[in-house]
Amino acid sequence: MKYKMPSKADLNGRSSTISNAFAISITPYITPTEAEIKESYDLLKIKEGQCAYCLGEGNSKDHLKPLVRKGMPTGYITAIGNLVPCCSSCNSAKGAKEFKEWYLDPNNIARLKKKGLDDSTIKERFEIIAAYEDKIEPPLDYEQIVGKKLWNEYIDRKKRLIAILKEDQEFCDRLNDIITKKSRKNSISDIHRFAEKWCSIFDEPPQNADRIFEDELGNECVALGFEMDCGQSFDKKYSKGEPLNRADLLEQTIDSVDDIWSLGNAIFSNWRGLTYWSFESGFTDENRAWFLMAFRRLKDLSCEK
Ligand SMILES: [Zn+2]
Repeated sequence: MKYKMPSKADLNGRSSTISNAFAISITPYITPTEAEIKESYDLLKIKEGQCAYCLGEGNSKDHLKPLVRKGMPTGYITAIGNLVPCCSSCNSAKGAKEFKEWYLDPNNIARLKKKGLDDSTIKERFEIIAAYEDKIEPPLDYEQIVGKKLWNEYIDRKKRLIAILKEDQEFCDRLNDIITKKSRKNSISDIHRFAEKWCSIFDEPPQNADRIFEDELGNECVALGFEMDCGQSFDKKYSKGEPLNRADLLEQTIDSVDDIWSLGNAIFSNWRGLTYWSFESGFTDENRAWFLMAFRRLKDLSCEK
């Protein structure tokens, strides 16, 4: 069965909102006089509170000519000549489409008929609104009005904000990843199984050691939510100066280790270092001692009481 999850709002999803807000922020916004409001209703042949598109009830206003297209201001403004009283369903059906293309589109005609309009009313509505649209002032050329210097600054400021959003999104994604993995109910028992498995592999005679050079261990670390941080989180917590990637140093510390995650990060990082840098020298006894100690401790720490 397909289960529809709620949509996940994120910062990237806000970039078109930012573009729109940038466009609308510089667009003139002119409040009409009483006389202009009356004239508008007369021209559109509707009453107050009526939708000009479907003649139903409506308290929204549609910009007949959209203010924003492809993230840029069109130069059309918010003034009564460009506004059409409408219902929310007509408003969202029209979206940013051109009135003349949208209104007589077969889908829209079908929609209007469902609302009770007949062919002649639809035709009449089309002509009234098309005539209203033809009176709209031509779009303003903002770039020409403010001059190249200010216009370029405007574009740059928008780009900068969108770039910041993107950067912050990447940061949040990282956190989300960590939180999701670490909050999984079964992750501690998964870690226990992981530690047990690798303890027994490293306990075996050397022929098993080749397995450490395969991706398996690293992939499992990723799946469990361990991070390759060069062992920094582990050293920061437990090191008394020297990095703990030496077996003799780890041995002095291992009993005090109580943090599963930084230990997992250290295992992951040490594995990566070993497979990346020491491929030629192979898996030494010291390596084996280090991993065995680390995995045993991980096994104990993840043992659910
Ligand atoms: Zn409507």
